[in-house]
Amino acid sequence: MRDHLSLLTSSLAELGISPSREALERLIRLGELLIERNKEVNLTAIDDPRGVVLRHLADSAAVLAHLKGERVIDVGCGAGFPGLPVKILAGDDLKMTMLDSTGKKINFIKEVAGELGLKKVECLNARAEEVASSTPYRQSYSTVLSRAVSRLDMLSELCLPFCELGGVFLPHKGPRSEEELSEALGGIKKLGGRYEGKTAYRTHPDEPEQYVLHIIKVAPTPEAYPRAFAKIRSKPLR
Ligand code: SAM
Repeated sequence: MRDHLSLLTSSLAELGISPSREALERLIRLGELLIERNKEVNLTAIDDPRGVVLRHLADSAAVLAHLKGERVIDVGCGAGFPGLPVKILAGDDLKMTMLDSTGKKINFIKEVAGELGLKKVECLNARAEEVASSTPYRQSYSTVLSRAVSRLDMLSELCLPFCELGGVFLPHKGPRSEEELSEALGGIKKLGGRYEGKTAYRTHPDEPEQYVLHIIKVAPTPEAYPRAFAKIRSKPLR
C-alpha cells in the first residue's frame, strides 16, 4: 500500500482535496488493514492496492466537499466506505455513525477506529429500516451517505428517514444514475426529499465517471416510512 501513496495523493488532488500528512497516513493504514483482514474474512471484492486507493479511499472522498453539518451517518457502510475516509479527512469534530447489518464488517470498523485513534465514530450493527424510526436516529443527521447498497428508489426509503430537516442525502451513484433517478423521484418527494442535482467526478483519468447526488430534506418523512424491507423491495416508492 505504501508504494501507492502518490497515486492516493494525486487522486485526492483530482477531487480538489489536499489532506494533512496525518490523514494520508491514516488512509494508507486503513487500506493496509482492509487488505490484511480481507485474507481471513470476506469484507470486500476490491482488495488490490490500486483498487483500494481509487475505488475505496479516493472514491469515498468525493462527497467531502458536499457535507452539511457535523452529524453524519453512512447507511450500509460495509467495511467502511465512504464513511471512514470521510471521517479521516474531515477531522475530529465530525460525528460519524457507521451502520451495517453485517456484524463482521462492523467489527472491522471498530478495529480500524481503535487502531487509528479515530474519535466520535459510532458503530451500529443493525438494519437501516429497523432503527430509522427510533430515537436517537430518526431525522437526526445533517448528512446521510450511502454507496453501493441498492437502487435509489429503495435506498431513499432506507436513508431519508435519518436526515434532519435542511440536511442532505448524498448517495454515490454510477452510470445508471439518471435511470435510477427517474424511478425514484416520486418516492423521494413522498419521503420529504427534493432532488437538487448531481456532481460528476473521476478518481483517475482511466476510471469511469461517477456521481454524487444531492437530495435535500425539505419536509419531515411521514411516520409510515420506512416500511419493512420486504415491502420496500416488492413495492418500491415511486
Ligand atoms: N458501502 C460499502 C461500499 O461501498 O464498499 C458496502 C457496499 S456492500 C455492496 C452493501 C452493504 O450494505 C453490505 O455490507 C450490507 O450488509 C449492507 N446493507 C444492505 N442492506 C442493508 C440494510 N437494510 N441495513 C443495513 N445495511 C444494509
